Amino acid sequence: MLQTLKTYFGYERFRPLQEDIIRHLLERKDALVLMPTGGGKSICYQLPALLNKGTTVVVSPLISLMKDQVETLRANGIAAGALNSNNDETENASLRRACTEGRLKLLYISPERLLAEINYLLRDMHISLFAIDEAHCISQWGHDFRPEYTQMGILHQLFPQVPIIALTATADKITREDIIRQLHLNHPRIFISSFDRPNLSLTVKRGYQQKEKSKAILDFIARHPGESGIIYCMSRNKTESVAQMLQKQGIKASIYHAGLSPAQRDETQDDFINDRIQVVCATIAFGMGIDKSNVRWIIHYNLPKSIESFYQEIGRAGRDGLPSDTLLFYSLADLILLTKFATDSGQQNINLEKLQRIQQYAEADICRRRILLSYFGENTTCDCGNCDVCKNPPERFDGTIIVQKALSAIVRSEQQIGTGILVDILRGNMSHEVTEKGYHHLKTFGAGRDVPARDWHDYLLQMLQLGYFEIAYNENNHLKITQSGTEVLFGRTSAELVTIRREEAVPTGKGRKRKVAIPPKELPLGLPNVENDDLFEALRSLRKRLADQEGLPTYIVLSDKVLHLLSTSRPTTIEAFGNISGIGEYKKKKYGKEFVEMIRKYS
Ligand code: ADP
Ligand code: ZN
Repeated sequence: MLQTLKTYFGYERFRPLQEDIIRHLLERKDALVLMPTGGGKSICYQLPALLNKGTTVVVSPLISLMKDQVETLRANGIAAGALNSNNDETENASLRRACTEGRLKLLYISPERLLAEINYLLRDMHISLFAIDEAHCISQWGHDFRPEYTQMGILHQLFPQVPIIALTATADKITREDIIRQLHLNHPRIFISSFDRPNLSLTVKRGYQQKEKSKAILDFIARHPGESGIIYCMSRNKTESVAQMLQKQGIKASIYHAGLSPAQRDETQDDFINDRIQVVCATIAFGMGIDKSNVRWIIHYNLPKSIESFYQEIGRAGRDGLPSDTLLFYSLADLILLTKFATDSGQQNINLEKLQRIQQYAEADICRRRILLSYFGENTTCDCGNCDVCKNPPERFDGTIIVQKALSAIVRSEQQIGTGILVDILRGNMSHEVTEKGYHHLKTFGAGRDVPARDWHDYLLQMLQLGYFEIAYNENNHLKITQSGTEVLFGRTSAELVTIRREEAVPTGKGRKRKVAIPPKELPLGLPNVENDDLFEALRSLRKRLADQEGLPTYIVLSDKVLHLLSTSRPTTIEAFGNISGIGEYKKKKYGKEFVEMIRKYS
């Protein structure tokens, strides 16, 4: 097993659970695998496919995903193909022949196609294993329900001797049970790996309004020059305005949402995969078909509706294991809107509960990763050191007066205002609504002029979290003071708030490039973790040239991680090149000579 892993994939070690899963499948037993995005699910069935006689059939919901997987396998010298509606007839005919003659190790197929072929092609093949990728698509409880998936229960009836492995990154219990039941898995062993992705940093910014968000995003991207990232937005309009904002600053950005034609969406996806654009501004529709391993950052422009979707989306960063950053903007306006969606959704209880959990994450004053992992049922014993709370533990101050000013304005306006007008009153803004209702005559008008508007939005979120007021969602989102709010207003208790810190912006054009450090344990022994930047750039251009020649995305030729390992350990023989983690026999023979020549020039 280890030798096959090294020969074909170039890796020395299995990740946790991979080895157990593979052994289990080689004993021809069923399995359900829950692993986070980027956890390394594919090897769990690709390795048995190589070790077994016959062909492993992989059911996958998206053509783009199949294409990516097949290209990755072929780039490693493994015979693989995808049967789908994108192929032309000759292509499909030769694939079918390869299948029946047993020349393919892996066949990727969509669920529709699988059902269509079940009594034809599949009968004529020697099938070693069925792998059901993105298996949560079978369940109505999952977030990507696909009716075609529900008919795959038939597989075990027609092919009782062929084991099935179902894989997903969605961990919740109902979905899990649904998958087992519907696929008729036979006493499956369930493998649940840790959902921790320690290479993803976690940051939340609270209370930002649109302008501040734009600025924060530009600063963030300046710290990631040339690095691919995704900005998830709640609405189509938002994706468009954010993309325009970026384009104006000379950043190559594009949009992706369900309102575009399939051709437009494919174009964005293709441009992103091939590094022709740096940023995609997307609604949640984007990402499932993306296996791009060098997405270096994810921004959530709006609060997501649940921890599941949030985790799945940030999981698209850093699949190669290198450090990657995530940033979530949390605002009261989003919370109000999402509460409305959840309330109107027909599954009010579940959806409000889910919203509350992501809210807890956004409002956390303890390690954020611990909150995420506990959501997935994992107990942790220490803080992560890679989230904003760990890095800058919140400091508190006596905020009684600030709280009193806000609460007093709420009371004096007879609890008939939302947060926008409240901030106007506190700041003394003569806005249209303020003068129309005569709020400029209130005693508290302008009482909070010393606090910037953006900080007021932050403090209001804190006050909501502390329970000093509530939002009447059924009364135009007006704010209503609570009993504990009254206690503070009348000075009977004091209120502690968290100090707001605003980091200094990076001056434009001076974006420091963050060093991508390879974790020391992954470096060959005795090497200092020092990278030759010029060499890295040279290797990157070489990779780009080779990728263009082959019409492949660069990360399929060699991953970013491999490039970093090369420019750190600088192998000068083809043998040493082949020892780099991530380079198998096939790539060693194919690319070794050119890369080694380039490295020699720099030694
Ligand atoms: P998933 O399907 O779970 O999202 P993938 O199967 O795409 O994850 O794997 C994510 C990345 O991890 C890929 O780049 C893959 O090559 C790499 N990987 C998988 N297994 C190992 C391993 N044992 N050692 C090193 N890298 C691995
Ligand atoms: Zn932490």
